[in-house]
Amino acid sequence: MFGLTNDWSLDVPERYFTLESYDGGVARWCPGCGDFAVLSAVQRIARDEQIPPEKLAVMSGIGCSSRFPHYMHAYGFHGLHGRALPVACGAKARRPDLDVWVATGDGDCCSIGAGHWLHATRYNMDMVVMLFDNSVYGLTKKQTSPTTPQGFATNTHPRGAWLPPLNPVRTMLGFPNVSFVARTVDWNPLHLHQTLLAAYHHRGMGFVHVLQRCPTYTPEVFEELRTNPDLTLLMTHETGIPAGDAVLRTYRNQAEHDPSDLEAARALADRNDCLPIGLFYRDANAVVYDDYTNEGIGTSDETKLSVLAAELDRFAI
Ligand code: SF4
Repeated sequence: MFGLTNDWSLDVPERYFTLESYDGGVARWCPGCGDFAVLSAVQRIARDEQIPPEKLAVMSGIGCSSRFPHYMHAYGFHGLHGRALPVACGAKARRPDLDVWVATGDGDCCSIGAGHWLHATRYNMDMVVMLFDNSVYGLTKKQTSPTTPQGFATNTHPRGAWLPPLNPVRTMLGFPNVSFVARTVDWNPLHLHQTLLAAYHHRGMGFVHVLQRCPTYTPEVFEELRTNPDLTLLMTHETGIPAGDAVLRTYRNQAEHDPSDLEAARALADRNDCLPIGLFYRDANAVVYDDYTNEGIGTSDETKLSVLAAELDRFAI
């Protein structure tokens, strides 16, 4: 930040990034889509943390939310369906200096990408994973997704989805080496921002389940939650996500929850009488795979060749 220094000279940073520094192409989501709120929150965090755009990488799979990299002025990779996480892990393995963010949807992550989801969680690489959950495949025009509510009519199940929905938070809390699981809603920008910020500062995979409005195909799914804050349960704790006064005033239904308590986190994730938001679980001591993939980075070609030659010499006859 700008300021006067002790010797009364003006302290001007060499580069200062504004919100516009992170503006990519014009976002082409439908009017009122919750994805806009998440984009704003990420750009604000990038500005507040003064992340150089060339040190930021946004990875995605396929779906409405997966258009995210196009709208950020940063490195990005709009990948294949369900493949956002392996692309992100690969990038982080070779470029540990990048801040990696992943934009994936309920179809992209929880269906075709579910195998990658499990293993990326286990690898626990240092990145933020945003699961945009609008309860439907929006890009392909209202097909049932793994999180579609049972009985909700879609184009693939016009008489209503048959199966009970998958709960992404509860699923995460059963994965091995899980280290950070939170939930927020796109319609509360303060809570959304604070939650993504906490995930960003967590070393390891910061997984954030974002309930995301889709006014085009699932306008009714979150409407009751959005208009009646008493249906939301705000998890609070000194080691949780700092909520701020405005959030505390909005969500009067609150519960103290220690995010180191995995069993309590699972019980909260299972609740269906209310929507718990905040930090379910954090384990700062979980193994971070970056510690292994980063080994050898920076080794010169000469050193690599000499090690390889020495190794091959062992088999000389
Ligand atoms: Fe957003 Fe739904 Fe439109 Fe997709 S279809 S851009 S999720 S409002």
